[in-house]
Amino acid sequence: MRTPPRPIDVTAALPELAAHARETTRLHPRPGAPTTADSSIGGPLLWPADEPWPVCSAPRMVRRGEPVPPTLTAGLKQAQAEREERRRSGLGSRPTREQLALLDDPALRGKSVNLVDYTAHWYEPEAHPEPNPLVAIAQLHARDIPTVAFPSGTDLLQVLWCPTDHQDLPGQTRYWGPAVHLVWRRAADVTPAPNHRGTAPPDPHDANDSYLPAPCVLHPEQVTEYQYADLLPHSPPDAPLDALRDRLHALDDLWESETGYSYQYDLSIAPGCKAGGWASWHLTDPVAVDCRCGAPMDVLLTLDSREWDGGSKSWRPVEDVVADQVGAAGPTGLTHGRWGALRIFVCPTDPTHAHRLNIQ
Ligand SMILES: [Zn+2]
Ligand SMILES: [Zn+2]
Repeated sequence: MRTPPRPIDVTAALPELAAHARETTRLHPRPGAPTTADSSIGGPLLWPADEPWPVCSAPRMVRRGEPVPPTLTAGLKQAQAEREERRRSGLGSRPTREQLALLDDPALRGKSVNLVDYTAHWYEPEAHPEPNPLVAIAQLHARDIPTVAFPSGTDLLQVLWCPTDHQDLPGQTRYWGPAVHLVWRRAADVTPAPNHRGTAPPDPHDANDSYLPAPCVLHPEQVTEYQYADLLPHSPPDAPLDALRDRLHALDDLWESETGYSYQYDLSIAPGCKAGGWASWHLTDPVAVDCRCGAPMDVLLTLDSREWDGGSKSWRPVEDVVADQVGAAGPTGLTHGRWGALRIFVCPTDPTHAHRLNIQ
């Protein structure tokens, strides 16, 4: 598949941006029937017959709910009626002081309260009833993703995860999502399964549908990306705005008003599933992702809920513009957070150092 040329050549306007370019491989997953010999998302893995299938023993987050204690319900109902009244009178719909005080009651603290049916909800870590078999998420041959540096002696990356929500996994900070497991192999070392469909892995006992991928074949394509704007060199406060990021901001305003295209959505970082390249930080602003060895980590794999959306339509492959490809915007069926992207970061010094996870 082919990404249309970027509508504006950013290095023609700002030649120094070339030093902040990186190649990424857009994977372009589309529903299909991949075999163990192929790179895929949601396809079968080339798995050694004598190697146990990995399982998850980390606690997953389970939703709990109960009615709000009757001693608090009457007060909350009255406060809610007053709030509704204020909203109807155009005085805003912010919670009243009484309501906030009641919601801060020790019985409700840390819980979200539904003010329609007066139930309280929260999440608690709970062990899987038994170790949960992982699900195959992606298999990527080095030949298909030249934008990723493989550990020496390996040429096959396999990504599996426990398809439930976990919080505070070892080595992760502020992360909520599936527990990811990476395997780096040399494909030639694996005795292929006789039928190219692979050994049938055990089904997980616990699974969220949004973490179970539809089998997709890949159409890898390399494109050039440029670093997220806020991570480019910028001028210190009170200094003249002449650093790269500041000149980019000025040009970006011009591009946006004249063409409708912007650096963030059209000219820098590709949306969709991809291997290597740069990470976007549009949700939280940049967060440092460092390895335990101290090295700043690189994004290995981005698993996006959509291949593009209304704001990043310029990245839609040319094949999808002419064909009826309505489903192409979310071919894998995976969704993260509110239609976000799960990113797996690895250490550039040694990709086998513990990976880190982030969702934007
Ligand atoms: Zn788990
Ligand atoms: Zn490291």
